[in-house]
Amino acid sequence: MKKIVLLFIAYLFAAPAFSQIKFSDETKKYIEYNDPVTVFKNGLLIDGKGNAAKPHQTVIISNGKIEWVGDDAKAAIPNGAKLIDLNGKAIMPGLVMLHEHMYISAPSIEARYLHLKQLPFSFPRLYLAAGATTIRTCGSIEPYSDLRIKKDIDLGVFPGPNMELTAPYIEGKSTRFPQMNENKTPADAAAFVNYWADQGFTSFKSYMGVDKPTLKAAIDAAHKRKLKITGHLDIVTYKEAASLGMDNLEHGFMASTDFAAGKKENEPPAPGSSYKALSNLDIQHDSVKQFIQFLIDKKTSITSSLSVFEGNTTTQPQPNQEALNAMSPDTRDFYLQRLSAIKSAKGPTVYDKAFATTSKMEKMFYDMGGLLTVGTDPTGNGGTLAGYGNWRAIELLVEAAGFTPLEAIKIATLNGSIALGFDKTIGTIEPGKSADLLIIDGDPSKNISDIRKVLYVFKNGVGYNSKKLFESVKGKVGFN
Ligand SMILES: [Zn+2]
Repeated sequence: MKKIVLLFIAYLFAAPAFSQIKFSDETKKYIEYNDPVTVFKNGLLIDGKGNAAKPHQTVIISNGKIEWVGDDAKAAIPNGAKLIDLNGKAIMPGLVMLHEHMYISAPSIEARYLHLKQLPFSFPRLYLAAGATTIRTCGSIEPYSDLRIKKDIDLGVFPGPNMELTAPYIEGKSTRFPQMNENKTPADAAAFVNYWADQGFTSFKSYMGVDKPTLKAAIDAAHKRKLKITGHLDIVTYKEAASLGMDNLEHGFMASTDFAAGKKENEPPAPGSSYKALSNLDIQHDSVKQFIQFLIDKKTSITSSLSVFEGNTTTQPQPNQEALNAMSPDTRDFYLQRLSAIKSAKGPTVYDKAFATTSKMEKMFYDMGGLLTVGTDPTGNGGTLAGYGNWRAIELLVEAAGFTPLEAIKIATLNGSIALGFDKTIGTIEPGKSADLLIIDGDPSKNISDIRKVLYVFKNGVGYNSKKLFESVKGKVGFN
């Protein structure tokens, strides 16, 4: 009896010790720090809540959790702790990125099919290397592969972020993506939601071909199971979706068809009409403000994904050389071909203008009290990769939307955690939360591009070497 009581007590005191995961030899190659107690001192603290960065701060983490945060002078250093002197480097929360995928756009030789290719090896590493400690996969094309990737990461077999799994896309009656199911009726959509929830998926995404009755059935089925649903919509407008109880909408305002001329209920807008409307939109007009206020009142959050859209503008900067080096040769050729076609258009195009307008609308939405989050969407022209694309998406919140760097960081950390319903455990550097944090050789609160200078990524208290993770997939992205 006594033995049982002792065992029980031991069990109570054993923290859910993530650091005691039996990591594979492969994963161990990238782990730089894995100690029961780690003390970071003399750091420039960026808390994720939007507060000004504070120098000379200590963060103490223990068994995968943040234990204490405060001034260096007041810190009580536990005996035997691993001490890391940050020497003025920044320490900030791990990124919580909401529009990630395990696949990339790939060349199609047949126009009937749009080709997407799963990258189970390289993408999880790129996400973690860039500092994304939690990602929502936002639409699956290989659901069993996504389940397996998450399981292997959680078991320590491969390095990667914590994954919030989104089920296969809830598509409507027809689709050009051969990996997507065609849901012919609302009842089909509800059954689809229930099936994938049973398989272990914990969030949903509806796609462009769903109409209002189908979307309503999907939302109700997801909510019945207390799960969240987002969407990249087209037939259904943002206002209609918000009225139906949609939790989240993807792609800022670029996927909004609310302003498209002649748009009929339950039908797609005329080709090109929604970008045209967005390109000419007077965003200071009362009707636009009322539209945004409506979404906020309905508590529908919005995910910004400016990096994927920038890839179709004529104004985009030269490709990032490191991202090019990461690509496999066929992926690079495919991307560079598409890029030169995009850049050969005479700007400013309708698309360029819609991109500029909707970027500003994201800031309006945030300023008016809406919950704005950010994601990468590593698809589009083929140049938006996991990792590098995460950084670009955050930079563009500053460059295109007009946020301050501290606001952009908050959107990419705390706000993501709120939208996922995980803000009790991740998203900021505060005692009690998961030790998901980034050590940065710069100050991203002043210059947002300094997020590219990430040295170490701590996930559940285990510190990974960012450079080594990037190195491990160099030249392979697109191939595997
Ligand atoms: Zn997507």
